[in-house]
Amino acid sequence: MDCPRCKSSQKKKNGLRRGKQSFKCKNCGYQYVENPISRTYSTEVKQLCLKMYLNGMGFRAIARVTEIDHTTIINWFKEAGELLSDESQDLIMSRDTK
Ligand SMILES: [Zn+2]
Repeated sequence: MDCPRCKSSQKKKNGLRRGKQSFKCKNCGYQYVENPISRTYSTEVKQLCLKMYLNGMGFRAIARVTEIDHTTIINWFKEAGELLSDESQDLIMSRDTK
């Protein structure tokens, strides 16, 4: 992980914070903690989740299968919503309440 402030990869380990490895940026001195929750997923994975959802699976079911946090998946659908037709969006938003 690179420095969130200056994007430099020049860092040194700075001990543990609440069990997570923390780093100090050698470039700007910013201290930050590695965050395994904000993992990035490939477009393929996102598309697969979208496909599963459109085939009738709920967010929590998809989360169980993919082991991705369901709030992360919901965020993707919000992003993807701009790319979908109005009809698909209505379907997704109406099913979200189940
Ligand atoms: Zn920095």
